[in-house]
Amino acid sequence: MYDRIIDKDNPNSALKVQEAIGEKPSPVNTNYIARLKKRKVISIDEYVEGILNSDRVMLSQAITLVESNLPEHQLKAQKIIERCLPYAGKSIRVGITGVPGVGKSTTIEALGTKLTHSGHKLAVLAIDPTSEKTKGSILGDKTRMEELANDPNAFIRPSPSAGSLGGVARKTREIIILCEAAGFDTVFVETVGVGQSEVVAHSMVDFFLLLQLANAGDELQGIKRGIMEMADAISINKAELDPNRAELAASQYRSALSLFPENENGWKPVVFTSSAYTGRGIDTMWETIMEYVAKTKANGHFHKKRNEQNLRILSESINSTLTERFYNSDFIIERLEQLKEDVLNDKVSAYIAAQELIDGYFENISK
Ligand code: GDP
Repeated sequence: MYDRIIDKDNPNSALKVQEAIGEKPSPVNTNYIARLKKRKVISIDEYVEGILNSDRVMLSQAITLVESNLPEHQLKAQKIIERCLPYAGKSIRVGITGVPGVGKSTTIEALGTKLTHSGHKLAVLAIDPTSEKTKGSILGDKTRMEELANDPNAFIRPSPSAGSLGGVARKTREIIILCEAAGFDTVFVETVGVGQSEVVAHSMVDFFLLLQLANAGDELQGIKRGIMEMADAISINKAELDPNRAELAASQYRSALSLFPENENGWKPVVFTSSAYTGRGIDTMWETIMEYVAKTKANGHFHKKRNEQNLRILSESINSTLTERFYNSDFIIERLEQLKEDVLNDKVSAYIAAQELIDGYFENISK
């Protein structure tokens, strides 16, 4: 700025830049920048300590690391998760699914506030397979769960968008660990019945609740059998609109479920009606969950299910890591295209080509 008003070449000018002043002062407070820079680098210890002290800011920032795809963030996230793992696992994990508009978020708000008012600490997570593709999302577009969002005992986090459902699943599982280490005793995983998202949600929860509408009676045949089989409870929501119809739908679901073989955990799926508006059935919902937990903890199936879930994650991650390494190896990158062509031209069978690639891959990595 001074350069423009001072004629530096005019020795008679009264306006001079004093040499002694030296460098122009920075327009921003450098101490502040230094502090900001310093603040950015939070150590693993600080993250872990913050999470274990239920510091929500630390928890959120650690979740951001989990959600990031940058390798250095991932590395840090994995270290934090590993340290939090011994403190995790103590919550009740509940999956809640149903078509858009059935009332998932309203129900979560109704049940969730009941829980937080009675001293529970609730984390609400979501698995939304649409969030990456559309950059909007089925679950996240509306203003949701306003009361819970301002509730100090609740923590709401939208779905991670990881590009693939497998990626979202992994991140959500890791977020559950962090939330549990931060002291949340109840975790809701909300998902919309799109694609395989409910299968993924089911694979990480203890109890799975399906919300339905009364008019779905006609659709009983249409509803994916798989979802019915996964449900530990079905609630016919918006029951206050037409209580008789809701009861009728409930009894239709009950008789449909009675045809399914009995669960090995001894639990018979429960069907009831609810209204997130009037609160009717919301107590039943929680009582049912508690009953399920008590029963399966008593007969060992609660832990058995968690163990099975963990072992499935182990084999899934072995599979996905092997696949990724395989396709990214120089040998496969070099050979795959040629062999694809050979298969298409009937020069080699697909099985032999696959075997050659696999053998070649392992020979190359052992060199
Ligand atoms: P989601 O898409 O499954 O999360 O559904 P929402 O919770 O956003 O609810 C969809 C619409 O149904 C909203 O307009 C809610 O206000 C309404 N709704 C939710 N629960 C009830 C209920 O128990 N009774 C009635 N009449 N409407 C409800």
